[in-house]
Amino acid sequence: MDACLSVQKEVDKVLGKFEGIKTHSARTLEELIDSLNNIKHELSAADHHTELNRVHQLILGSAQNRTKDILTRVSNEHKDIHSSVSKIGKVIDKNFTSELIQLNSEQTFESPDRMRLLNEVICEHFLRQGMLDIAENLTEEAGLDMLDSAKEPFIEINQILEALKRKDLGPAMAWAARHREQLQAQNSSLEFKLHRLRFIELISHGSAKQQEALAFAKSFSRFAQGHAKELQVLMGSLLFIRQGLEHTPYSHLLDPIQWDDICDVFTQDACALLGLSVESPLTVSISAGCVALPALLNIRQVMQQRQCQVVWTAKDELPIEVDLGENHRYHSIFACPILRQQTSETNPPVRLSCGHAISRDSLNKLTNGNKIKCPYCPVESSPADSKQLYL
Ligand SMILES: [Zn+2]
Repeated sequence: MDACLSVQKEVDKVLGKFEGIKTHSARTLEELIDSLNNIKHELSAADHHTELNRVHQLILGSAQNRTKDILTRVSNEHKDIHSSVSKIGKVIDKNFTSELIQLNSEQTFESPDRMRLLNEVICEHFLRQGMLDIAENLTEEAGLDMLDSAKEPFIEINQILEALKRKDLGPAMAWAARHREQLQAQNSSLEFKLHRLRFIELISHGSAKQQEALAFAKSFSRFAQGHAKELQVLMGSLLFIRQGLEHTPYSHLLDPIQWDDICDVFTQDACALLGLSVESPLTVSISAGCVALPALLNIRQVMQQRQCQVVWTAKDELPIEVDLGENHRYHSIFACPILRQQTSETNPPVRLSCGHAISRDSLNKLTNGNKIKCPYCPVESSPADSKQLYL
């Protein structure tokens, strides 16, 4: 996005310049033509047989020089525009790196197994997006054996989401009722939120649906525990059923954002229940890649310049730490403050008896005899007292 914006900025600059030159040259040329016309008029008024007097000669001479000057200036400005236009090309090259091939390790998707995994991830992505026909085509062309049972949950979730977008709560309520026990087990408030929205919908119809709203309110009894406060608000709103909630303290209940929220809550809870991640793994990988790419391109350039490609030997590890931002944080990591390396299964974090944590390798290195001096506090303790940390 930044790349597009900086190219756009450059294009705007050139367009502005072009507009400026256009009006300026049109005005100067017009003025020049006017003054030449004046001279012509003056000369034609003079007697045809008299020779040009000194004043006429001077006027003609200066007009000629002025014409030359102006033409040179206009053609210079024109040349200038050319260089500005070609600069856009350079800005595009600079901002959009087309050569990404070197960042790709060719073996990644070489084996048929990995190719199949990639195709499956793409297929799952399409299913999640509700693009069933594309997913089916891909399944066929890539020779995947996606079982119908694997597709069904996606199809159902998409149908329910579509209905929610049309403000039809029916399918979602039926689904939530069918999975009540599982939803309760994962502490989900989806069913309550669906009921709440249904109730608000009834109330918003005014006194015509008053009886229906009152009858529906009975279903709230099983949500009394845990949602008492929200239920009080809903019951309070009943007082205004005749006049409508618009200009009452309950107007927030009508906020359309409730419908966006219910779609999010449903997606989250349904995915959790089916053991799926909320976001498509493909979307996450691509957006993480987009964030990491500029940093990786930079480091590649630096490594090439300093001719130190060999430094990056660990294939499954990046040469630098790339911060993907809050949206892409999934679990805690621990980097050993001594080795300045992320801990791993072979080199896990350990807690010394003073409470400070370092990696197992550092612990071994710093151990002297059967004592270790904490690099922070520096309390001495026995390495045997240290405990492995699980993050
Ligand atoms: Zn310590």
